[in-house]
Amino acid sequence: MATLVLKRGAEARIKAGHPWIYRTQVADLKGAWKAEDAVEIVAWSGRFLGRGFYNPRPSLCCRLLTRRDEPVDGSLFRRRLEAAWEYRRKAGLIAEAYRLVWSEADGLPGLVVDRYGPLSVVQCSTLGMSRSATAIADGLGRLFPEGRIHRSDDTTAARLEGYEAQQDPPGAELVVTEGDCRFAVTPGAGQKTGLYLDQSENRALFARHAGGRRLLDAFCYGGGFACHALATGASQALLLDSSADALALARRNLELNQLSGRAELREGNAFDLLRSLESAGERFGAVVLDPPPFTRRKDSLAAAARGYKEINIRGLRLLEPGGVLATFSCSHHVTPALFEEMCREAAGDAGVGVRVLQSLGQSRDHPVLLSVPESRYLTGLLLERTS
Ligand code: SAH
Repeated sequence: MATLVLKRGAEARIKAGHPWIYRTQVADLKGAWKAEDAVEIVAWSGRFLGRGFYNPRPSLCCRLLTRRDEPVDGSLFRRRLEAAWEYRRKAGLIAEAYRLVWSEADGLPGLVVDRYGPLSVVQCSTLGMSRSATAIADGLGRLFPEGRIHRSDDTTAARLEGYEAQQDPPGAELVVTEGDCRFAVTPGAGQKTGLYLDQSENRALFARHAGGRRLLDAFCYGGGFACHALATGASQALLLDSSADALALARRNLELNQLSGRAELREGNAFDLLRSLESAGERFGAVVLDPPPFTRRKDSLAAAARGYKEINIRGLRLLEPGGVLATFSCSHHVTPALFEEMCREAAGDAGVGVRVLQSLGQSRDHPVLLSVPESRYLTGLLLERTS
């Protein structure tokens, strides 16, 4: 087994509970390295720190899989998968559609597994993980003997890590229930693994505030927020997205839930559409703003903040007094504190009073590790316009 020796002092972060090692922290790699085998990680002093997959290509070159002196083999994968399932079972999170494995937060950095009915959608984002497909499949096979696997690797990560992303061709459409709604999922065809599972709890929460109101679902993708709100009693919904495919999926979901009669869909850039709705004097009792990440990098945070601020100013102006806004950021560089500050500025510029009804985050099947701030990426606020 190869040994990765860290530079003097570079083990501090690892000891504080974070599993990542950057290339600049590495002093030496001893022995023959194979992508599919975990390396042993030691401090400069020789002290054992753990084991993990190494890849010399990306700057984030190694992520710990264990802090114990134990083999990284099929048994470890099996135990991690069982623990991930057990956490969700105890927390009451096992549903028809849920995230079973959330990378670092489930002790399997570089692996995401989403469950849709009998199907496990497996997404590998590191070289070592992509070489562990057999161990992953065996572990999943034990948990779900009748289940099937659909591989849907992250292409950006694969390029960065230097392996060929495995993407099974889109399979047949599945229909899964989420609370009182039914959603169409075609793994390999849509965005994410099929559904934005990280918003499932927020969709249900928001729906409870939308009863009797006219709703605007901006950046709607498959219309998940609108479907739940309409099913719970919102009077009407306007759904906006720049992607024709997303709107086709939203149309399908509205039909599946027999809600099409109360919904209107509009294709275009939300920045422009929100502006034209405002100038047309349109008003809503409930608004959702769930944009894609405006930045994936820290150095473009200021530009991203301007984008978030602009849509929130417009979202707040479109709200009638007493109306509710659910607003989100899924860029992990935007912390809850930063997001709140940005919304405060937006409310100031919009000239409206706002009460915080609730702070929001990703669903609990995307757990957050305290020692790994990167595992929290979705932040949001449920706001009420008071004046
Ligand atoms: N709320 C959705 C998820 C939204 S994902 C849910 O609960 O499922 C973000 C969506 O924003 C994507 O569907 C993407 O197509 C859309 N999008 C990205 N940029 C946009 C823009 N400038 N204007 C409108 N929609 C945009």
